[in-house]
Amino acid sequence: MKHTITNNAVESYRPSKVGVDPMRPYLWLHEEEVQGDGLLKSVNTIFLTNRECPFKCVMCDLWRHTLDEPTPKGAIPAQIEYALERLPKADVVKLYNSGNFFDGKAIPRSDYEAIAKLLNGFEHVIVENHPKLIGNFIPGFRDMLAGSFEIAMGLETIHPEALPKLNKQITTKNFKEATDYLVSENIDVRAFILLNPPFLTDPRENIEWCLKSVEFAFDCGVSACSIIPTRDGNGIMEKLRDEGEYIPPALSALEEVFDRAVNLKKGRVFADLWDLEKFSDCKICFEARKERMQRMNLEQVVLPDVECGCAN
Ligand code: SF4
Ligand SMILES: [Zn+2]
Repeated sequence: MKHTITNNAVESYRPSKVGVDPMRPYLWLHEEEVQGDGLLKSVNTIFLTNRECPFKCVMCDLWRHTLDEPTPKGAIPAQIEYALERLPKADVVKLYNSGNFFDGKAIPRSDYEAIAKLLNGFEHVIVENHPKLIGNFIPGFRDMLAGSFEIAMGLETIHPEALPKLNKQITTKNFKEATDYLVSENIDVRAFILLNPPFLTDPRENIEWCLKSVEFAFDCGVSACSIIPTRDGNGIMEKLRDEGEYIPPALSALEEVFDRAVNLKKGRVFADLWDLEKFSDCKICFEARKERMQRMNLEQVVLPDVECGCAN
């Protein structure tokens, strides 16, 4: 697949969606995370059900839990209420919507006030959004919140050939301008960075480009970077893997970028550990290595390596 990947091509390889209810979030979690002030805070994360993201990034599988039609008015506040009734109290709330919070068809703008009211008890609110969906609706929503506000944006990679091929439809300039704007509006920014994006297939280069991307994001002014090992599972990624255009990262590669990114000391760095078993071939050391990275997420210091005879 050497040609530019279009929305149609991305969609044509997809397995079917999971059936979702517009009145229910599809997942909610209680966890801990170090915040910008260096303190460990409790976090409620709510995965909202809403209209599918209009972008069709090659590596994305978030569409699986989305609706085809615009989200009905009132559904998002109902979902937040439902999740909060089932979660313990927390300092911080993350509303992740498998897309972009400021896409009006995903999160109706007429619901902002009701949403902000439900989040009154939180000291910090985090949502996710695409760098191109910028406008005065963002400070408008920020002003409705009782707490501080943060937006997570996908930078993915700064590799000059891989980034345009991801079909994300952003440039590094778009990311920088969006970050400048948000920071000037007193909004914190975190970046999602891919380790082993499709179209970068040399293991060493992947490590170096991931680190360069983390550095770029921090230089733009983000306060945290979340490193995501790129996974297959959405149809087109399997196809790219078969064609030699995507290689999954080794666990040791994630450990190396995580250690080096923490040691940059430019801001908080998190490793995304969801479905991590996918990247391990060794049953002996896997749990200990996962636990080490879990602790590093919380402590933000590099911990001693786990010793094992395996080459993974
Ligand atoms: S912008 Fe985000 S949610 Fe939308 S397709 Fe790309 S990765 Fe997926
Ligand atoms: Zn091992």
